[in-house]
This record gives sequence, structure tokens and C-alpha cells, in this order.
Amino acid sequence: MRYVGRFAPSPTGPLHAGSVVAALGSWLDARAHDGRWLVRIEDVDTPRCPAGTDRLILQQLATLGLTPDEAPTWQSQRGAAYQSAFDTLVANDHAFPCACTRKQLHDAQGPRERHGELVYPGTCRPERGGLRGQPPRAWRFRVPAGLVHWRDRALGPQQQDVAAEVGDFVLRRADGLWAYQLAVVVDDGAQGITHVVRGADLADNTPRQILLQRALSLPQPEYLHLPLVLAADGQKLSKQTGAAAVALDEPLAALQAAGAVLGLPRLDARTQHDWLGEAVNAWPWRPKDNRAL
Ligand code: GLU
Repeated sequence: MRYVGRFAPSPTGPLHAGSVVAALGSWLDARAHDGRWLVRIEDVDTPRCPAGTDRLILQQLATLGLTPDEAPTWQSQRGAAYQSAFDTLVANDHAFPCACTRKQLHDAQGPRERHGELVYPGTCRPERGGLRGQPPRAWRFRVPAGLVHWRDRALGPQQQDVAAEVGDFVLRRADGLWAYQLAVVVDDGAQGITHVVRGADLADNTPRQILLQRALSLPQPEYLHLPLVLAADGQKLSKQTGAAAVALDEPLAALQAAGAVLGLPRLDARTQHDWLGEAVNAWPWRPKDNRAL
């Protein structure tokens, strides 16, 4: 199997210290495995993506020396692929329309939330009476009962009862936009991604993505969830919390800081190129024997 990895930023803001860790970690892992590294702009949630941010991110990556092996792709141009996967899910009874508003869900069950999202109680499942004459809003994935197990290269064995902890999750939103879970699974499959390397904040999404891969008969990639950069108050650093964009005038310092989060020693280098070359050799998740891949 030839390694194919990716960095998949949502262009809601420029890269910050946390997203540079994900970019660098996925690049290093691909290089250490002698694999290819792709960049996918995850702009499905168009209202949250200011114009020009995608270009800024690509420019930041280039300044850091992280150049993709193929031309980047944009999720906003992949609607036909998401529609086709969605049609397959509907045809195979893996998806159903839901009429519930957020308020109705909240009123029905109280504050049973997970990361700000309501746990879906199955209200509009067809066997529970379906839409009951109401207009459809979102479309949801019918989550099968039971535990999902997987092994993360950093976190070790993981499991989640998606049905109980998340519920039937959204595939197409009430506003007609495709949900991240569907888009990411379709694209990882279409691009032949063998290894997903991303921030630990996304680890929790993995079992939902595994369920979608199974329903769409797509292979399951290997997962490596990287340590997060925390803000001074211990909260996750994110574009939403106003994390500062990475300064383009000090790329080596940005690489060094991201490397420290990833457990790399301080590396002496004059250029980004040299630094990256040394970092590949020092990469903690380097395969012990490339032939074993
Ligand atoms: N687009 C997601 C983000 O920026 C990352 C998705 C992924 O790596 O699976 O948080």
C-alpha cells in the first residue's frame, strides 16, 4: 500500500499555531513514510469561510515549506460527489429526513449535549413515525446500535457508542449544505487517503466517519490524532477563540514551535527546507521498517 496523507483545513481563518501542528504533523508523517501529501480546502460551510482565506492558507503553507504533491482541491466544488454518496446512503436505507428544529430537540430532551451538539433522540426515524406530515429539514445518518472500535496510532485503542453518545448525525443540513462528516469521508475515499493525521480535537469524529465508510463500502484509513496547542487559559486554541494567525515573516520559529508540540527536539537549521529534512528523521511516529507498510 502506498501512503497517501492529507491536510484538510477549513478556511474559516488563517492558519494559527494549532493548525500548523496539524499541517506539519501530517506532512512529516507522509514524508517519513515516503508517501504523498495532499491539501484539501474544506470549505463546505461556505458562510463561515471568508473570501480569500483559502489562498492565504496555501500561501502560509508554501512559506513554511509545506508544498502539496498535487494541486489542492476545494470541497465547494465537490457537490456532485457528495450528492451521489448521499443518494447511495438513502437508497440503502442508511439515511432519513428529519423535521426537528434545534428548539424542538432541546425541548424534547433537555440539555443532553455533546460538544455543543444535541444528542439526537431518534425522533424522525421512519420506524418511529417519520416526518408526521411535517416538511423535511436536515437528512440524518441512521446510526447502527453497538460500539465502534478503532485503534489510534497515538491514543491507542478507542471505542464509542455512537448511537448513544451522538445519535443519528446530520449528512445534509437544513440549509442544504453538506455536513463535514459526509464530505470528509467521501473525499478521503476518493483521494485514496491511507493515513489521516490531524488534531486530537477531531478524534471524537472518527467513529462517525468509520460508520460512514462502512455504509459507503470505503476502506478505513489509519488514524493518528496529534497533541493540541492549548491557549493560556487551557482552552483549545482555535480560529473561533481568535487564535493569532501564524506570522509569515518568521516561518522557522513557527516550525520550531509546532515541532515542540509534536515532541521534536530543537533542530538547528538555517532554512525551512533544512529544518523539515531534519524533522523527518526525528519524527516520533516514523515507521520502524518501511517495508512493513
Ligand atoms: N476541516 C477540519 C478542520 O479544519 C479538519 C478535518 C480533518 O482533518 O478531518 O478542523
